[in-house]
Amino acid sequence: MSAAPHGASAAGPATGIPATGIPATGIPATGFFWHERCFWHDPGAIGVFSSPGEFLQPQPASESPESKRRLKNLLEVSGLIDELAVRKSLPAAREDLERFHTARYLDALETGDRAGGGDGGDCAPFMPGSLAAARQSTGLAIAAVEAVASGELSRAYALCRPPGHHAEADRGRGFCLLGNIPVAVMRARALGLVKRVAILDWDVHHGNGHQTAFYADPAVFTVSLHQAGNYPLETGGFEEQGEGPGLGYNLNLPLPPGGGLGAYDHAMTELVLPAIEAFDPELIVVACGYDACAKDPLGKMLLNSGAFARMTAQVMALARSACGGRLVMIHEGGYSEGYAPLCGHAVIETLAGSNIHVPDPQNDEIAAWAYQSLQPHQRDLINGWREGWAAAGRLPPTRHSWIRSSRS
Ligand code: ZN
Repeated sequence: MSAAPHGASAAGPATGIPATGIPATGIPATGFFWHERCFWHDPGAIGVFSSPGEFLQPQPASESPESKRRLKNLLEVSGLIDELAVRKSLPAAREDLERFHTARYLDALETGDRAGGGDGGDCAPFMPGSLAAARQSTGLAIAAVEAVASGELSRAYALCRPPGHHAEADRGRGFCLLGNIPVAVMRARALGLVKRVAILDWDVHHGNGHQTAFYADPAVFTVSLHQAGNYPLETGGFEEQGEGPGLGYNLNLPLPPGGGLGAYDHAMTELVLPAIEAFDPELIVVACGYDACAKDPLGKMLLNSGAFARMTAQVMALARSACGGRLVMIHEGGYSEGYAPLCGHAVIETLAGSNIHVPDPQNDEIAAWAYQSLQPHQRDLINGWREGWAAAGRLPPTRHSWIRSSRS
């Protein structure tokens, strides 16, 4: 374990998870996949307000490279990157993209990219060069999933940009051009690396892309923990549970705005983790957005970096219990340029079992905000969903010790 440099402390996050660090072989068990080209995607000037008007001073895009570049830079400055297996990847091939996307949509993207840019469908703007960045982003997800599914790495984090969880088969949506996780999971399954996959999306927005990709597929369990009624407006309800053979394999938890540490912990321990455990996955993929943090301009939730570290530790404990620790985290949204990198570092230091801890000067203050504890309306909603899921026979009969031990 290397010493903590440059002011980073060696205390480690309070996750209750024993450090694993670099194994005796000297090969880091945790992969970190990134590529500079992903930062070159230019979405144009789509800011916090997606419909600029006469009285809106032009502003940089909300989905800018800055929060991701700062996260990568923070890993360098803290020294954590030296404990990771740093990898790049090839861009996603057309053949892989076509497992999820329609040929017509991919053709339109290529034509638009050559013609000077456009919109992938619904608030998914792009400029020339964006398609190369998007294919690179999907390529990172493919490589990360493949490395873990094949056993080459124990777990991995992919710093994907543009994000992917809103992209649907025939259109881009919500800053997303290509479905990074669906394409990666479909390829891994096509190669026979894995059969049963659980996708947990804790981005503050509903993971509609994952839901549509696998809605009728009982081999991929999609779970989305999001702010109710945020983008997209028309999807994300608890009643959307899959169709045909996929009925019972899609779980939405649309939390009321204002959800904080108590609400997320209750949702995770009471329903999300047991539901995934009952599914018995061979691999867990987390759509890791940071826009549920208290500082995000596009979300109205109250998480701090410690909450992201705790959720990561909880999913790691689940992965160890359910699928040999196989866990891949794919970067999604997160628009606070200052705070998202601190949350990302907390996630990656937890994932790597590192003693390098970057102090978050706002963590304790956010935790002390009013209404951070589980509120009655949040408890009633989550317990109701749990009862509904249990009544359908989709929860384990007993609560296992790793859930209790993952609670702080
Ligand atoms: Zn989001």
